Amino acid sequence: MTSTASTSPIAILHDVFGYSAFRGAQAEVVDHLICGGDSLVLMPTGGGKSLCYQVPAIARHRAGRGVALVVSPLIALMHDQVGALEEAGVRAAFLNSTLLLPETQKIEREMMSGRLVLLYVAPERLTTPRMLAQLDSLHERGLLSLFAIDEAHCVSQWGHDFREDYLALNLLHERYPDVPRIALTATADDLTRADIIERLALSEARVFISSFDRPNIRYAVVEKDDARKQLLRFIHDEHEGDAGIVYCQSRKKVDDTATWLSGEGVNALPYHAGLDAAVRRRHQDCFLRDEGVVMVATIAFGMGIDKPDVRFVAHMDLPKNIESYYQETGRAGRDGQPADAWMAYGLADVVNQRRMIDESPAAEEFKRGQRGKLDALLALAETHDCRRVRLLSYFGEKSAACAAHQYACDNCFHPPATWDATEAARKALSCIYRFYQNRGQRFGAVHLIDVLRGKSTEKVAQYGHAGLSTFGIGAEVSEAQWRVVLRQLIALGYLRSEGEYNTLELTPSARPVLRGEVQLLLRQPSTVPKRTAGVRAGKPARSKGKPPPLPLNEQGLARFAALKAWRAEVAREHNLPAYVVFHDATLAEMAQGVPGSLDALAQVSGIGAKKLEAYGREILRVLGGV
Ligand code: ADP
Ligand code: ZN
Repeated sequence: MTSTASTSPIAILHDVFGYSAFRGAQAEVVDHLICGGDSLVLMPTGGGKSLCYQVPAIARHRAGRGVALVVSPLIALMHDQVGALEEAGVRAAFLNSTLLLPETQKIEREMMSGRLVLLYVAPERLTTPRMLAQLDSLHERGLLSLFAIDEAHCVSQWGHDFREDYLALNLLHERYPDVPRIALTATADDLTRADIIERLALSEARVFISSFDRPNIRYAVVEKDDARKQLLRFIHDEHEGDAGIVYCQSRKKVDDTATWLSGEGVNALPYHAGLDAAVRRRHQDCFLRDEGVVMVATIAFGMGIDKPDVRFVAHMDLPKNIESYYQETGRAGRDGQPADAWMAYGLADVVNQRRMIDESPAAEEFKRGQRGKLDALLALAETHDCRRVRLLSYFGEKSAACAAHQYACDNCFHPPATWDATEAARKALSCIYRFYQNRGQRFGAVHLIDVLRGKSTEKVAQYGHAGLSTFGIGAEVSEAQWRVVLRQLIALGYLRSEGEYNTLELTPSARPVLRGEVQLLLRQPSTVPKRTAGVRAGKPARSKGKPPPLPLNEQGLARFAALKAWRAEVAREHNLPAYVVFHDATLAEMAQGVPGSLDALAQVSGIGAKKLEAYGREILRVLGGV
């Protein structure tokens, strides 16, 4: 099926997707694939991976090379991606277990005729004998244009989302060696990368590695005080009406937090594996389709959520490691607009995570690896220098601090005061040592701090601790500071917290600290100023709903609101999330520039030929009516 339409990538980018230029490595990746080369693409979330295979699929289809197969593990995502392609006028479909037989057969006919441009399939479906026979037939007729393997890290046991079905995908290469393949993932670490190359037989492939920096994400870690209240304040102060995700470790905490937020007037919904499948689906749909929903979830939620306008990801508990933190926070701000990665972190987090590793039945070697990963995350949480630098250096990337950056991390935005806690640490450790000397007793942090600060409590009296040489030796250090010191000592492995009562115990590595050989420079506990005053200065006060991504005057805001109302109608009619019809940024550009003709409208980013034809007149009418 040849067509007269252009096969040039930039023309396709412009006409079909309405974008003016490729981003980063996209152009190179696209060229390589169109020319028939294999590739492995490592690009952060929001980097624009989809276009890397969609543009080549269209180009190759226009050149008469038939259908591109896209392997994707996520059924919900397939539906929306196909919807977005159809909106852009590209013939696409998906095959998965949600379809009834007649629909499946219709799609198979379209595929076999070569009319389809892209077909999304679940991995288990692709390797069925029936599908392979169909692919053989397409291949014989030269109508198999390419294979795209999305979320390629699913093939790796090291990764966080291993899928058995992905292992069978190496047969694509054996069976159709001349059909180019592109594997894509946002998971960066070396081990997973090597695994993907080996298991998918991509040793000849070109590897494209993008920077993993997410420049529009502002990282912040706050000290847990009353975490729920802190979260509420964060949402009220900075994200009223915004869509966001709040991660909690346990199902119970998810339920409790969602209920509490709802009670406080936040549009929050729970999501975890303990909920009924139908409820989960309903909540996910609400999150994707409605505006400003806050999803409170365990990590069961999130993979493949490609909602572009998630404005914040909050962690109420410490994630497992930096990989998870990066993946989870990466779900914010796919649209490139400013977004927050916010985490509340405290002593209990450190203790819990350590204990979970210690008590797991895994082999000692595995536990050692996990401890190392936890340590790296703790260092990120405790650091008083740039979090972006730490994060990227973990993935082997060097970067400059984000101080000058528009969306700086908390430490760069407001450098924390530090204090030398070396002496304090020695005092704490020697006090624990004295407890132990004194009849082999152990105590938790609260009592330790009381003794250090010289407080006469019942417990102090009961154990005669006022008589210890360490009683009151740390009165000059505040309680909050002591908590930070203890947390640090545990995080750094000088102290261990044991048993039901979290009693503290020295580890062998405490010695150098006791001798004063280790310097501890800690951040002063303080509340970070609200960003609202700084970075987001100049934004219009909002009454309700979230603000547009561009500064708009009063009339502009009215136009933006009218466009959004119109978009909601279209989205409902087409059974798609609103952002699949048009992104907020596209609507805001229209509301600001007020294009008066179809030609002018065509210049707006995000409007391709099909959307112009389908909606152009309507949009002009909406704009004209305000
Ligand atoms: P990823 O899959 O890498 O997370 P997507 O493919 O979903 O990212 O792209 C993220 C967003 O960026 C999408 O909304 C997409 O339309 C947009 N985008 C991608 N490439 C470009 C480009 N060259 N110009 C403008 N917008 C783009
Ligand atoms: Zn920084």
